[in-house]
Amino acid sequence: MLAPSPAGFRRLLPLLRPHSRRLLAGGVCIVIFVGCWPLLAYLAGQLIPAIGAGDIAAVLRSIGLALAVFMVQKLAQYGQDTLLAGPALQVAQDLRRQLFARLQTLRFSSLETLSAGDLTYRLTEDADRVGEVIYKLVHDTTPSLLQLLVVLGYMLWLDWQLALATLLLAPFVALLVSAFGSRVMAAAERSQRQVSELAALLAEAIAGLPLVRAYAAEPWLQERFDTEIDLHRRARYRSLKLLALQHPVVGFIEAAGILAVLLIGAVRIGSEAIDAQGFSSYVAALLMLIDPIGHLTQNFNEFQQGQASLRRLREIEAEAVEDPDRRDARPLGAVQGRLELRQVRYGYDPARPVLRDLSIVVEPGQVVALVGPSGAGKSTLFSLLLRFNVAQGGQVLLDGHDLTALRARELRRAVALVPQQSRVFAGTVAEAIRFGRSASIEAVREAARVANADGFIEALPGGFEARLEERGANLSGGQLQRLAIARAVLGNPAVLLLDEATSALDAESEEAVQRGLEQAMAGRTVLVIAHRLATVQGADRILVLDQGQVVEQGSHRELLALGGRYSDLCQRQLIVQEF
Ligand code: ATP
Repeated sequence: MLAPSPAGFRRLLPLLRPHSRRLLAGGVCIVIFVGCWPLLAYLAGQLIPAIGAGDIAAVLRSIGLALAVFMVQKLAQYGQDTLLAGPALQVAQDLRRQLFARLQTLRFSSLETLSAGDLTYRLTEDADRVGEVIYKLVHDTTPSLLQLLVVLGYMLWLDWQLALATLLLAPFVALLVSAFGSRVMAAAERSQRQVSELAALLAEAIAGLPLVRAYAAEPWLQERFDTEIDLHRRARYRSLKLLALQHPVVGFIEAAGILAVLLIGAVRIGSEAIDAQGFSSYVAALLMLIDPIGHLTQNFNEFQQGQASLRRLREIEAEAVEDPDRRDARPLGAVQGRLELRQVRYGYDPARPVLRDLSIVVEPGQVVALVGPSGAGKSTLFSLLLRFNVAQGGQVLLDGHDLTALRARELRRAVALVPQQSRVFAGTVAEAIRFGRSASIEAVREAARVANADGFIEALPGGFEARLEERGANLSGGQLQRLAIARAVLGNPAVLLLDEATSALDAESEEAVQRGLEQAMAGRTVLVIAHRLATVQGADRILVLDQGQVVEQGSHRELLALGGRYSDLCQRQLIVQEF
């Protein structure tokens, strides 16, 4: 499974295609750069005997020529490095962009099982590593390989018998490098997995720090962290130990090889098979092999590590994505806001349905409250109305259109969600309300007014341009909820899905949020998972959900009078005392 294979990287080649002209220009620079090596070896062959003979004029001539060749070679090297860096970085960026776009389309079931920390690591570190390998591949591996071939060709031309004797060593070095390579890849994969787990734990720990402190669970968390970093250190150490062993072993074989060549060379000079000048050029060329061999060995290791990273990136691609819009998906047009569920069946595990033959009709402009015990399927119902999940039986309809026949983006513009726990991204208040949509500041202000959020926003330093911290940490719970309501009403959706926050708000906040909700609900179809007294009381109809079915429905008073599940629920929640 861990056998070295370039297949993973080969699949990235199409990403390089748009850069073919730069790659070609870079290739020309590589050819010039590499072509200078045998010239330099030849000049070394001229220079060394001239130095021995004290022939200053010949020495000066050779040095002058060598300087000119070096100059051309270094210019070509600069051209090669700059021309090839751009495409390589672009490929890494394209890969990252593709993966992020993929992430945005993953099914919710997949997203819920993936860890944020682990994904972050994959899209940053692993993607960087792959980018680096691509860069190395074009700007280092290719010239090194060419240098190896050209210099070897020159050595064969100088003295093929000596060159063949030298080449006998090559299989040993290649075998060693590849044996180390597969071990390096396995170790790298282990080590990267460990860092990912560490990142996942860190993300979880940072989000949960206040809770950890509240429960005095610091020693427990520290212990988990210590275990994780210890595993990480061990995995890294195994990797480094392998590399530490590889360098001296390969280095020793190289050194022994050079000494052997010197010995054979001395014999061949003795038998006049090669002259001193030719042998000097040969040794200079031999020395020119050390560098590319070193580079190729190191690149091979990095390539193996990159393979491991690439595989981890590909795992994201293997996750299931949302069903795309149907080809014949119809445009939604103006929306009245009539919702209908016909005999809807849905289960996260189809064998264990969460919603069972559920039928509901909500007429445009009606406010319907959903109540029921935890796990009854209320949030699941919302996920179906937003087409986050698709019914496995029956139909979900908006204005008579099956949701699967609509375009998801249009549907979600018409049906706005105010979740129980609102999130905002770091940025200004206006940006949080716009949330990527283009809307004038007047429209943003109007949405804030409807949500009863304008008062507190204008009191912030900077007003609508005030900066919000990540997750809206500088806002109170009630303010965050009103901001979420403003965000939902900005697009003027026909349908609002409200998942009321259960967290206790103080009376003043509760009242402010309630006023915002009432204004937001006016003229819209509203389905609300209700926890607030005022919401339940004010709803046109209350649906009591249990085990994925509507077990009672009617107004607050009708249901209380019925004395069934609803009145039980109310009694348990002490609601009845308030009426
Ligand atoms: P609550 O009021 O506690 O939020 P709810 O009525 O909204 O509950 P749902 O969240 O819809 O209930 O859950 C209904 C059932 O589906 C529960 O048994 C729950 O365990 C299960 N469930 C919810 N989400 C998933 C999921 N992503 N994968 C698997 N099962 C799930």
